[in-house]
Order: sequence, then structure tokens, then C-alpha cells
Amino acid sequence: IERDAVLRKNYKIHVRGDNLPSPLLNFAELSTRYGCEPYILHNLRELGFKEPTPIQRQAIPVLLSGRECLASAPTGSGKTLAFVIPMLMKLKQASKDGIRAVIMCPTRELAAQTSRECKKMAKGNKFRIKLMTKELLKNADFSRRPCDILISTPRRLQIAIRKKKIDLSRVEYLVLDESDKLFELGLLKQIDSVVKACSNPSVVRSLFSATLPDKVEELARTVMHDAVRVIIGRKNT
Ligand code: ADP
Ligand code: MG
Repeated sequence: IERDAVLRKNYKIHVRGDNLPSPLLNFAELSTRYGCEPYILHNLRELGFKEPTPIQRQAIPVLLSGRECLASAPTGSGKTLAFVIPMLMKLKQASKDGIRAVIMCPTRELAAQTSRECKKMAKGNKFRIKLMTKELLKNADFSRRPCDILISTPRRLQIAIRKKKIDLSRVEYLVLDESDKLFELGLLKQIDSVVKACSNPSVVRSLFSATLPDKVEELARTVMHDAVRVIIGRKNT
């Protein structure tokens, strides 16, 4: 509709895909349109975040509507919350059903940073959010402890899978964060084994990146179903 086109133009949101959900007008729509629990809006207020960033305006509704997403937006434009907010909303509550969401980051530092951001936004809910560390990998009963969201580099995840330390068969959300770097670092094999281990047929995959080279998009589309592409600004810049 017209309103969507105007919003997208104003925020330089470029989309490709069928049946695209409207971009968010404001954070309040998370509640009025999607019935989010109050803790999310509370945390956004506490952090002083008044307006969604352009990538958040479009990627959040795409993921909330259950669509897979290929997203590209400049560094520092709020991509983390663009996938963390819909993930928390979809998971609803902590559960003991095993790992339900996995976020892959290219480096340990980025994984640690993402984990902190995720915990800040989850405050007030009881989600168990875990950063995969060396210690955790060695921990014998890691697999028996409840974990809702697991954040890791592909390398450590691959080791954990190989050692049968984790079961990813119930993962509902899989995010490849900073995927341009993931591919640059040559982590393709590791990523592939994680994608395969997330064998739940209804898993929703998404890819967030500063740039979206054609090669990466082609590769991603071989495993994604009907993904929506969201680009902020110009492609590849
Ligand atoms: P990116 O992954 O796109 O490089 P980040 O997700 O790391 O960016 O976000 C960059 C910074 O912007 C972080 O400090 C984050 O807390 C902040 N931020 C995220 N969303 C908003 C918002 N809606 N308003 C203001 N600041 C935000
Ligand atoms: Mg980021």
C-alpha cells in the first residue's frame, strides 16, 4: 500500500519478495500490531531507544510473519535487535525443550557482544541465553542444562555438534550474523554443518550483513525458502 511505499522511501528501505509485511511506524506497533509482551517496550525505553532504525522497521515484521530474511544494512545500524526482538517475541517464554534459537557470529568478540545485547533486551523474562565458550564445550552436562538461545562462532558449534554435545534438531530460529565476515573467514564448512544440524523443517533462517554480495545471496537462497530481501541504503556499500 501507499503508506508502506512512503515509509520505505523515507528510510531508504529496499525490499524484494511477495506479500511483504508493512514496515514499523514505531516501536509501539510491536504491541498494537503484534501483541508483544510489555518487557520488550520497557527495555527499549530503559535503553533510551525511541525509534526503530530502518533495518529494524522492516526486518522485524518480516521475521514476525515467519518469513526467512536476507538483510543488509550498514555497520552500527542496529542489526542485532532487528533479529533479537522478533526472536524473543516468537520464543515467548523460557522452556526446557532444548535449544530453540541459534545465533552464529564470525568471532568470539562479536558473539560475546551479541550475547550481552540479547540479555539486555530479554531482561524481565526468564530466557536462558548462553554464549558458547571453551569451558561450556568441556562441561559434561552442558547438553542437559536448559538453554533457549545459544550464541556461538560456527567453529565452536561445529565442534560441539561433532562431539555430540548439543542437539540442534529443535532449533526454530537460526541467524547468521555479520555473514559477509562469516564467508570472508572461510567458515563455509562450519556454517554448513550447523545449518544441517538445525534439521527442524520449520526452522526460520535469516542472514544479517553489512553487505550482501551476489555470491552470498545465491548461496543463501539454495537453502532458504521464499526469503525476503531487505536492503538499507544501496546494495554492497
Ligand atoms: P550493527 O549490527 O548493525 O553493526 P548493532 O546492532 O551492533 O549494529 O547496533 C549498534 C548500536 O546501536 C548498539 O549500541 C545498539 O545498542 C544501538 N541501537 C540499536 N537499536 C537502536 C535504536 N532503535 N535506537 C538507538 N540505538 C540503537
Ligand atoms: Mg552486528
